[in-house]
Amino acid sequence: MTHLDAYNRPISYLRISVTDRCNLRCLYCMPRDGVPLCSHHEILTYEEIETIARAAAELGISKVRLTGGEPLVRTGIVELVRVLASIPGIDDLAMTTNGIRLSRHALALAEAGLLRVNVSLDSLRPERFERITRGGRLEDVLHGMEAAREAGLQPIKINTVVIRGTNDDEVVDFARKTMHQYWNVRFIELMPMGRGLSIEDEWREKIVIAQEIRRKVETVLGKLEPAKVSAGNGPARYYRLPGARGTLGFITAVSDHFCYQCNRMRLTADGQLRPCLLSDHEIDLRTPLRQGAGIEEIKSLLLKGVETKPRRHHLAESDGPEKRAMSQIGG
Ligand code: SAM
Ligand code: SF4
Repeated sequence: MTHLDAYNRPISYLRISVTDRCNLRCLYCMPRDGVPLCSHHEILTYEEIETIARAAAELGISKVRLTGGEPLVRTGIVELVRVLASIPGIDDLAMTTNGIRLSRHALALAEAGLLRVNVSLDSLRPERFERITRGGRLEDVLHGMEAAREAGLQPIKINTVVIRGTNDDEVVDFARKTMHQYWNVRFIELMPMGRGLSIEDEWREKIVIAQEIRRKVETVLGKLEPAKVSAGNGPARYYRLPGARGTLGFITAVSDHFCYQCNRMRLTADGQLRPCLLSDHEIDLRTPLRQGAGIEEIKSLLLKGVETKPRRHHLAESDGPEKRAMSQIGG
């Protein structure tokens, strides 16, 4: 049975970061030289992740998303997918990836039981993409998306963080992509993630709020109509251009918090349960696990997370969490 938190929200979703390592250095997520990495000993083993996922499933958590860092840089990820997909109660298993290694793994991931992928993509221009990610090749991501589509990892959602002066002039190009292809583009408002954000100027000036993006799109391409996506409805609100195949979504993390409908908790790669992305309150699961805690003990720690999940964040009035970069939590 799914558990309710102190504000009556059913907690049914766990995001698991499987690594703090990444093959890119997106400028809103990681400093150029990366963040201090956990040692291999500090990272949860796959067996430990499995135990936590089993405990979560027994508490009614039915949806799991693997993230990172970049989940596809961790060796053996396909095997982890296979194990998690076989846990009774987990009926929705997805992944968020930068797509760079997706073409190599899409088919095996789908065969192992992964249902869908979200791919992060902030520019459709190769040089700009390389600059934002500090070294990524756009072509690799596009091939990855194609391989995911062919493998049936659908619907693919595209996460696009919009940054003023960096890629905000491309929102219409992204929207155009939805006209003839089944692209589901989600525009994400830039969040201030303490240690990771390496945008030097005042970050607030770089945020482009959803209303502004929407206005830009509608001015050129026409009025958006409310739309539904077939799977994995999260915090985004979805729309469609008239006659379009794909959809456009907006994740208004800063301008209009959606905490009242938040259904998730997060597990960091080093085994800390984070009831809220934007609060540094964490519950250590790794130490008890390594001291021999069984499923029941892990369940009671997970329930503690549910009980202490904050009501909302306050990004509109204050800066984000200090303790970790986004790459260390998983978005
Ligand atoms: N490496 C994978 C990827 O890029 O998809 C998974 C981890 S990444 C931390 C997860 C998501 O967080 C990505 O879609 C990324 O765009 C988003 N993200 C990272 N830093 C952000 C920030 N400061 N504001 C908003 N979104 C951010
Ligand atoms: Fe890596 Fe994803 Fe962060 Fe980019 S957003 S640096 S791909 S973890």
